[in-house]
Amino acid sequence: MPNLRALAAELGEAKVKLDLADRVLHRYDAITEGKIPLAVVYPETTKEVVRVVRFAREAGLPLFVRGAASGLSGGAVPTEEGIVLATNRMTRLEIDPKARLARAQVGVVTAWVSERAKPFGLYYPPDPASFKMSTIGGNLAENAGGPQCFKKGVTGDYVVAAQVVDAEGRVHEIPGRAAHDVLGLLVGSEGTLVVFTEVTLRLEPLPRHTRTLAAFFERVEDAAAAAFEAIRWGAMPAKLEFLDQGCIRAVEAAFGYGLDTGAGAMLLVDTDGDDEALVEEELELVADAFAAHGARIQRARDAAEADRLWQARRAVSPALGRIKPYKLNEDIAVPRSKLVEVVHKIRDLGEAFGFPLVQFGHIGDGNLHPNILYGPGDDVARVHELAHAIARVALEAGGVITGEHGVGLLKRAFLAEAVDEATLEAFRALKRAFDPAGLLNPGKLLP
Ligand SMILES: Cc1cc2nc3c(=O)[nH]c(=O)nc-3n(C[C@H](O)[C@H](O)[C@H](O)COP(=O)(O)OP(=O)(O)OC[C@H]3O[C@@H](n4cnc5c(N)ncnc54)[C@H](O)[C@@H]3O)c2cc1C
Repeated sequence: MPNLRALAAELGEAKVKLDLADRVLHRYDAITEGKIPLAVVYPETTKEVVRVVRFAREAGLPLFVRGAASGLSGGAVPTEEGIVLATNRMTRLEIDPKARLARAQVGVVTAWVSERAKPFGLYYPPDPASFKMSTIGGNLAENAGGPQCFKKGVTGDYVVAAQVVDAEGRVHEIPGRAAHDVLGLLVGSEGTLVVFTEVTLRLEPLPRHTRTLAAFFERVEDAAAAAFEAIRWGAMPAKLEFLDQGCIRAVEAAFGYGLDTGAGAMLLVDTDGDDEALVEEELELVADAFAAHGARIQRARDAAEADRLWQARRAVSPALGRIKPYKLNEDIAVPRSKLVEVVHKIRDLGEAFGFPLVQFGHIGDGNLHPNILYGPGDDVARVHELAHAIARVALEAGGVITGEHGVGLLKRAFLAEAVDEATLEAFRALKRAFDPAGLLNPGKLLP
């Protein structure tokens, strides 16, 4: 038995939790339950991360890195008895306004970066809907996206440099530009190749003006066609979000934001920029394109109304919890031209399997989140069968099995259908090169 008490004595008992309650709490992410870990360790510095990695390596224990555990693919849950390395106390954050950079330890919560940058007229664009809880480390490991990513890009587009600890416990300072794009390789590696410890992030000037509108459509196909039309006409909205009727009704039933429950679908749009007239003009262009597809348009009159509309969007996940206690949040991305066909196929699958299913997503990127809702009496194996069928619909449409939530545990089995055997073997070789002993996040990502 590895001497975890010795590790606790060395790092301090406040940083190494061995009691059952703490360990049980760290077996979950947002929707998945894993094994109870042997210990939960809260390092505060890179040096302490190195110590934990070396300890795990010497003891032959697997290591599961965990940020806020808001992940939706089971990425952070232990698959075997091992150590959970929780980054929540790695929260140092410095803003360099002149260089427009932030240097963050990985336990920094995503929203803090923009909050701290705001007094300097700067912000950090990647905005997963979970941004008030997710950590920068989790965002890097999943290459998280969000509503703004259609125009502004995903997490990886903002990582300038990173410090990582490898599976041997060595520290690497990885620059953004080197002989190889190592950072590009590590971002999105889901805790399976290295432990991120610190990161330098690019900040952007805050746009001076933002305008918001909500549009309600009779049918999903009208909303999808309208979104394509607006883009074809030259609009590049800062945010472009889709909600189906099930989402609209769930949000209204739970919180009553005044959305049109008779609508078959809703689009929520922000335009932004420094030139107010251009921002208005772009919103008008979007409104015209939507009106051409029969939309009823609601322009936000002020920032408070815009905020309320975005609150309604963020309320989707909590609202779904009122319908059924559990949900499996699928995450696919398909070519925009295939979106209508895919939405219909998935709706039909939900009906065929007999589960309530709603769909929303970042429609500009073709990123869709079909959510399967279920309860304690339901057959979980059937829920996963339905998720697999949804992934197949994405692949048949020329899409991918994950848009932003990662493969993790949930989609491991689907990966073999998503990439060819030679590529899969290259992924395995990569894993062996970075982590020969299979210490980091075993049982994830690779089938
Ligand atoms: C309501 C809700 C809305 C969401 N909306 C979005 C969205 O719009 N866009 C989106 O992309 N995601 C979204 N997510 C999913 C999730 O929030 C993101 O995947 C997020 O990036 C996870 O961050 P985390 O800190 O919670 O990571 P965790 O869940 O703790 O971990 C996720 C993965 O990252 C690894 N990891 C964590 N920290 C490190 C590190 N320092 N080094 C190496 N590996 C690490 C873990 O091992 C695990 O594999 C949403 C989730 C919820 C619950």
